[in-house]
Amino acid sequence: MTTPPLDDDSAWFSELGEKEGLAFSLRVHGRLHAEQSPYQHIEIWDTHTFGKLMTIDGFVMLTSRDNFLYHEMMSHPALFTHPAPRRVVIIGGGDCGTLREVLKHPGVEHALQVDIDERVTRLSEQYFPELCESNQDPRAELYFGDGIQWMKEAAPGSVDLVIVDSTDPIGPAEGLFSAAFYRDVYRALGEDGLVVQQSESPLLHYDSIIRPMHAAMRAAGFSHTLTLPFPQPVYPSGWWSATLAGKRDVTEFRERDARAKGFATRYYNAAIHRGALAQPEFFLSERAD
Ligand code: SAM
Repeated sequence: MTTPPLDDDSAWFSELGEKEGLAFSLRVHGRLHAEQSPYQHIEIWDTHTFGKLMTIDGFVMLTSRDNFLYHEMMSHPALFTHPAPRRVVIIGGGDCGTLREVLKHPGVEHALQVDIDERVTRLSEQYFPELCESNQDPRAELYFGDGIQWMKEAAPGSVDLVIVDSTDPIGPAEGLFSAAFYRDVYRALGEDGLVVQQSESPLLHYDSIIRPMHAAMRAAGFSHTLTLPFPQPVYPSGWWSATLAGKRDVTEFRERDARAKGFATRYYNAAIHRGALAQPEFFLSERAD
């Protein structure tokens, strides 16, 4: 493990999207931490205007400033779509931000986070303590292991909501984007069960990720799938998405409950949820099914 203090106030962190022909940069005071875990290269940076930044294998995971957009949209739309979610499993999500949002729902009785890499969580506790503030909640359980394997072994019908908060579909996360994985998710879910997965950029990855994800989810038995776009300034193109799949309709949600949610959010509310259900024209005209 190395911790190089890159103390150059005019340095920039850049994520290069070679294939997409674009780059995203943040001006940094320096790098606070770098290590090679058994699974990936994790770095923490101190930026000028976005707070702390975590990268994995050179790709932006989250910043202090804008992670609320992602974490809220990965959790609340799915939680308010399920009629009564009690048992939630988060696959990935090692920074614990999604876990914190899930636990804002008083009806949730158990939220299990299954991340392959314990180091992501330990570094988040150190550099993003605000995201880890619910880790001691008695309803929270942290398990470190492969989400693909965990899902294979899950008891049938034992989960209400699966949230796949993973890295991009390369390395250990590749299998999380496959029909075989969705079949295991389908089996683990109860009758009203739902899965929501981060599905990358509608602009850059519609053909390569979003469309195949719908096809794979439907091949696994999910009769209803829907992609919810939302802004995410630090991810490539600044426009990101979460794709929902259910055994029942996913376009209706407990709107009255969302209006009266009784907990604080910075982006999500019932109107944002309703707005995210509106589909861009190219989603409708270019869908395979
Ligand atoms: N919001 C982020 C994004 O879209 O870039 C994802 C953040 S979260 C830190 C991603 C997590 O997925 C990482 O902590 C990584 O260890 C975890 N992960 C990747 N593959 C996994 C697998 N097969 N099982 C469980 N966790 C996995």
